[in-house]
Amino acid sequence: MSDYAERYAASVMNTFGPPKLVLARGEGAHVWDTDGKEYVDLLGGIAVNALGHAHPAIVDAVTSQLGTLGHISNFFTSAPQVELAEKLLTLLGLEPGEGKVFFTNSGTEANEAAFKLTRRTGRTHVVVAEGSFHGRTMGALALTSKEAYRTPFEPLPGDVTFVPYGDADALAAAVTDETAAILLEPIQGEAGVVVPPEDYLAAARAVADEHGALLWLDEIQSGMGRTGAWFAHLGTGVRPDVVTVAKGLGGGFPIGACIGLGDAGTLLEPGNHGTTFGGNPVACAAALAVIRTIEDEDLLEHVTVLGQKLRDGLAVDPRVTEVRGDGLFVGLELAADVSAEVAAAALEAGFIVNNATPRRIRLAPPLVLTEDDVNAFLEAWPKILDEAMA
Ligand SMILES: *Cc1c(COP(=O)(O)O)cnc(C)c1O
Repeated sequence: MSDYAERYAASVMNTFGPPKLVLARGEGAHVWDTDGKEYVDLLGGIAVNALGHAHPAIVDAVTSQLGTLGHISNFFTSAPQVELAEKLLTLLGLEPGEGKVFFTNSGTEANEAAFKLTRRTGRTHVVVAEGSFHGRTMGALALTSKEAYRTPFEPLPGDVTFVPYGDADALAAAVTDETAAILLEPIQGEAGVVVPPEDYLAAARAVADEHGALLWLDEIQSGMGRTGAWFAHLGTGVRPDVVTVAKGLGGGFPIGACIGLGDAGTLLEPGNHGTTFGGNPVACAAALAVIRTIEDEDLLEHVTVLGQKLRDGLAVDPRVTEVRGDGLFVGLELAADVSAEVAAAALEAGFIVNNATPRRIRLAPPLVLTEDDVNAFLEAWPKILDEAMA
């Protein structure tokens, strides 16, 4: 560990702080560090490792695609790219022709594409929620609420209004006939898994319609089965104009997508946007393998049942004042600002969790997490809290 930690400090830019572990391998929801210590990974690479680590379906898809056709540029297309675009539209409940997809390599790039798409309405104003996280590139950063992330890089692309998350009246007051889009996460991830009131997205849809603005949902963290549904917004019946996805989409292989529904799918025209790697056959094959496995192994149902068990078990301890989220997207509000201590004690005990804010713990484990993994964590949890709050 120490050897790589020192070499990391000497050779890798210090943007993330010192790494907590040097990891060597993984299998399912478990990872091992270079000392051979095993951990249950309850963060899943931040909601990325949908099928856990080293899942044979992804390994096979990636190796066989790379051995057949790895990269071709966007002068050309390939079967995996077209099949994935069609599949994503189907998962959104659309019929053929009711939407269009732009592929990227990451979440922030998916949001950049969507941000540029909103400019093609002829308007520039975007209304975004406080507590939001939409990425670190200049455009996505302009739409991200945390001032500490934004301030050092100003000026950023402007004309952005931030409103309190979950407050439909504040949204209605901020949106005008000059507004290009309302951008929301259906459940806020980086804020510590914050769930808005039930009718919030419907209210946002109504406000957007009233002013001719687009409703853009960032499902980069909440999508691809994390909540027990393909997308967190699907249960609300709200139809957005734009959906961005990434994280779990490739199950660990980098890929993102900006999906335009209806007319929003044709706002970006030839020459408006581009990417060298986005939509390459290998990434698309990985994503198709993720989706196929979630379907074949009935993982949405598994996520719903296991997520409920996990959240119920965690709610029992009075040192947790609130358990939020859906499926395997879980936020724990602690009774004190000790999330860093809790994350450290959990790591010591062999569990990877995330201290999203000083008082909130976030869990976003692989969708293939097992009941044994959940039982092990629920058994260790009170002792982790004892340790952290001692
Ligand atoms: C992680 C995340 C992003 C940014 O994705 P990157 O792949 O890190 O660029 C954007 N929006 C949401 C909601 C996210 O959780």
